[in-house]
Amino acid sequence: MKAAVYYDIGDIRYEEVDKPAIGFGEVLVKMEACGLCGTDIHKMLHKTVDTPVVLGHEAVGKIVEVGDGVEKFKVGDRVFFAHHVPCFTCEYCIREKYTLCNQFKETNIHPGGFSEYIRVPRLNVENTMHIIPESLSYMEATLIEPLSCCLYGLKKLNIRYGDKVLIMGAGQVGALFCQLVKSLGVGEVFVSDISDYKLEKIKDFGVSGTINVFEENIVDSINKLTNNKGVNIAIVAAGVPSLLKDAINCVDRGGQVLVFSPFNSETLMEIDGDKFFNDEISVIGSYSSTPYEYDIGMNMIANKEIDGNKMITHVLKLSELEKALNMSTDIDENSMKIIIEP
Ligand SMILES: [Zn+2]
Ligand SMILES: [Zn+2]
Repeated sequence: MKAAVYYDIGDIRYEEVDKPAIGFGEVLVKMEACGLCGTDIHKMLHKTVDTPVVLGHEAVGKIVEVGDGVEKFKVGDRVFFAHHVPCFTCEYCIREKYTLCNQFKETNIHPGGFSEYIRVPRLNVENTMHIIPESLSYMEATLIEPLSCCLYGLKKLNIRYGDKVLIMGAGQVGALFCQLVKSLGVGEVFVSDISDYKLEKIKDFGVSGTINVFEENIVDSINKLTNNKGVNIAIVAAGVPSLLKDAINCVDRGGQVLVFSPFNSETLMEIDGDKFFNDEISVIGSYSSTPYEYDIGMNMIANKEIDGNKMITHVLKLSELEKALNMSTDIDENSMKIIIEP
């Protein structure tokens, strides 16, 4: 079978790899679509993973083989599945920090989403696999995983009707957060980015104001938009380290900052420590998603509470992963969500 294998920065090869064999409780899926995630882009640009590796985790497809012991699924089912599974019993899981569980990152689909066929291990089948409703296309279903990550992040925030929200980053995650917070009844939503195209496109999701950070100072702009109060919630949805400091300076007293992006780990920044005690701001991190979000996310897309189609701007072939990566980072390519199909 073919897979798009990541070897090095600028070196992705569409090549022949062994088709995985499945064992007890496992399922073999023919990949029908796989989203290109911001974390895939980050890994490929900065080589933060051991290589060679097949990336991609926003995969969906059709079951072509089921192992002994699989009872809930059969050949022909259209399915969603996640790549990581917590153990549900360790000290982190008991505290509902499922994505910090040691088992979480040890579990994975094989070889990865950017592959013609994917072996889904027993734990992933049992805890994360769902049959995709007929009304949901494979393309839209690729958004179940990123939407679930957003749902997990939102659980950590205390959001109220009328809140003012700043979303930093008008990519797919920004567009998902926009739709989610609007559905929760927040007041105004502001979005910042460097791409005029994305800022224009995201206006479709009920945005009150946009800020191009190439042209405007974000803190000044937010002050202008909020009568010098700041926003109640700032969501960092772009992996630019300076955004964390900006986010902290954009929230009102009592404000919450949700950090939703990987930064390069050695990044140090100066933050006014008084903001935590005197202004009671909080900074909350959120990584990945858990088995408790997938069916909720899937139903939200199926019920059109989240408009997936509006977000998908490009569909490319598995053989074109490198092109997809370059498109995602080229501001002139006007991309929001890129989907890879076999
Ligand atoms: Zn993702
Ligand atoms: Zn655990």
